[in-house]
Amino acid sequence: MAELFDSFGRKLEYLRVSVIDSCNLRCFYCRPGDTCKPRSVRGQLDRKLIVRAVAGAADAGIRKVRLTGGEPLVRKDIVELVREIAKIPGIEDLSLTTNGSMLAELARPLAAAGLNRVNISLDSLDCENFYHITQGGQLQATLDGINAAVAFGLTPVKINMVVMKGINDHEVANFARMTMDQELHVRFIEYMPMLGQEELWREHYLTSAAIMALCEHVAPLIPLPEEDLHGPARNFRFAGSAGRLGFITPVSQHFCAECNRLRLTSDGKLKPCLFAAEEIDLIPALLAGDNLSLLYQAAAKQKPEHADTSPAARGSSCGPRGMVEIGG
Ligand code: SAM
Repeated sequence: MAELFDSFGRKLEYLRVSVIDSCNLRCFYCRPGDTCKPRSVRGQLDRKLIVRAVAGAADAGIRKVRLTGGEPLVRKDIVELVREIAKIPGIEDLSLTTNGSMLAELARPLAAAGLNRVNISLDSLDCENFYHITQGGQLQATLDGINAAVAFGLTPVKINMVVMKGINDHEVANFARMTMDQELHVRFIEYMPMLGQEELWREHYLTSAAIMALCEHVAPLIPLPEEDLHGPARNFRFAGSAGRLGFITPVSQHFCAECNRLRLTSDGKLKPCLFAAEEIDLIPALLAGDNLSLLYQAAAKQKPEHADTSPAARGSSCGPRGMVEIGG
């Protein structure tokens, strides 16, 4: 079986596929803001081309696929897409990142179609704060989605909270407590200075160290051995807890040395790094039905050793897309 390596000896096995660049929520920290041209006119890959792109990735050495967006569940054909990707030889793990708001109805068909697990983004357990952060979202829909994901075995269910000073840092302890009696994996993610976010980021960024200190107020954190060396989270639990806590530090402590991923945007561009401007257009080869391995290898070769996430570097190294368009 083929293996894919970058120029720094990292084995790339993981492809994040954005299947749509629109979302049914409008989280203020995820959008590029007014300075960015609207992207809705960009063509989105149809299902056949996404499946072809993933099959090509598997031929090149990719083993794990995560579907993301925008909001992947907004795609009308998401269940069929999952079914087709799950059948691709070589793909050993198929997961999806979602805001969970449509998961109550979709967890069962997605699980039946071959989805292994979900990560659910949730930034507040307070209805009003949730509404404020998502600019109109209903907390209960996401909570129902989490329950459905657990009920239909899309486990381990990981809850991703982007922690922002003055916005939801007062809720960190409540999120941490969720792990005490539920088998959830709550992961606290540092707010990243994505396109159009610089000012907000300066005001609301909180380090993982500060977030950990908030959790330590609940109970002492016990470190867990790394079960998956390529996962970005440092994992802990409370004594006797059913679930676990993870801390993801894209800003204060890059995990580039262990990065094993490439990204495919919903308009067919391969991105070697979340923070890099470089993109490789897969569309001509996808339309022609060409072998894609050389393009995946070219993307691997373009992967930088380190992502530069500092605000100072944004002008030069930031791609012209916001998070909602790349797929987090
Ligand atoms: N709609 C899906 C969801 O809500 O999970 C998938 C797409 S969303 C872009 C993926 C993840 O990116 C979410 O967990 C979101 O919180 C995270 N995200 C977006 N902007 C971010 C930022 N500036 N810093 C850190 N995480 C961010």
